Amino acid sequence: MTQSRVLYRSLAAAPRTAVGGDGVYLFDQEGRRYLDACCGVVVSSLGHNHRRVIEAIKRQAEALAYVHAGATREELAQFLTERSPGLTHAYFLSGGSEIVELCLKTAYQYHVEQGRPERRHFIARRQNYHGSTIGTLTVSGNVQRRSIFEPILGPAYFVSPCYAYRDQRPGESEREYGRRLARELEARILEIGPDRVAAFIAETVVGSTAGALPPVDGYFKEIRAVCDRYGVLLILDEVMAGMGRTGYHYACLEDGVTPDILAVGKGLAAGYQPLSAMLVGPQVHAAISSGSGILRNGQTFVNHPLACATALEVQRTIVEENLLENVRRRGRQLRARLEEVFAGHPHVGDVRGRGLFNAVEFVLDRATKEPLDPDSGFAARIRAAAIEQGLMVYPMSGTIDGRRGDHVMIAPPFICTEEEIELIVSRFAAAVGAVFPQVKREGGLLMVGGSGQ
Ligand code: PLP
Repeated sequence: MTQSRVLYRSLAAAPRTAVGGDGVYLFDQEGRRYLDACCGVVVSSLGHNHRRVIEAIKRQAEALAYVHAGATREELAQFLTERSPGLTHAYFLSGGSEIVELCLKTAYQYHVEQGRPERRHFIARRQNYHGSTIGTLTVSGNVQRRSIFEPILGPAYFVSPCYAYRDQRPGESEREYGRRLARELEARILEIGPDRVAAFIAETVVGSTAGALPPVDGYFKEIRAVCDRYGVLLILDEVMAGMGRTGYHYACLEDGVTPDILAVGKGLAAGYQPLSAMLVGPQVHAAISSGSGILRNGQTFVNHPLACATALEVQRTIVEENLLENVRRRGRQLRARLEEVFAGHPHVGDVRGRGLFNAVEFVLDRATKEPLDPDSGFAARIRAAAIEQGLMVYPMSGTIDGRRGDHVMIAPPFICTEEEIELIVSRFAAAVGAVFPQVKREGGLLMVGGSGQ
């Protein structure tokens, strides 16, 4: 075999690749079918080979594939802002990292336009991820992804994530826990100096870093109040959680908060094209329009016509086929069945999520919540065991602090049926059964037999 010229993540081996897909299934070169219960990295919300979307792509490609800052953006911006919690304008780029980078720049520009250039500091949360560029990594609390780049990252300030399973105190209500976290943010703003903080950025529902981690009830309202008190902008990153994944067009609709700036990506065009969007509220728009009147960003693929037309068709499909209702219903079914199947399982600590954005957190000891040995290689083992069962899931380690903790995300396409949810649960239970033939307290995870080698 000729040596690959592709720089894969692991330079040692090329990853297994899918060569086709249809609906909720992916196919490999040998023709094996895999139920795609993670949509790649939580992207393919309409599944694969969606005819309506493919036809729309063909039409737009034949009309006009590319022009700089294309015209299809208007309809899409209208569609997205109309369904948002009061956001009024949209800007389109290609990937999640570059759109979050733009959110940070726009937050700073907002303050500069109002004569406050000293508001240049950002506060973010540990165990949240915002992207792979230097700017977005700077505000990312993902220890593994920051790692060797730490010396070239800019300064940023961090506060605790909202992680009820581990951090809500015994006897503390959700309201009290949310308030405690908001006080922590307030203390951090006061420590930096309120007139030096540009924005607070958070994932509304944390994705792969902490495993489909939703905030407790009332948390974001408390956070919003603190931001307002000090003139700090609230940026919500819904690159993974937005565009219907939680059963709402925007995850924050469920929390009853309006951010000043919102980022979406991934599911926006459902993987049929790369597209991301920044939405801003009237206050941010007004500051720029009545100031310099120019949004300080220019990129080759802004408002890409083919990508915007694709996203419009994807989003219309979601509305016209009432898929948000399906996401909520199938999500409830999925969590209920996971709870049932793993009730009393010694290594299943938490089942959580919203809509079709869910995760199971695994532990060594269910009672004490002690995590598995970080060197057990759990993520790789469970991925292999799931593949063996014909199931694609999204496992990740470092759930607690970047090193300790393990979870598996289950985020299937919005089109999945009741029967397919049942199949996901039974295949996943079989994979978990294969990975936990024996667990030894002293040595963390000890593999004996099973398919997760
Ligand atoms: N923000 C969040 C919440 C994400 O989950 C991701 C990617 O996983 C990003 C930003 C970065 O997006 P991309 O990988 O498209 O650059």
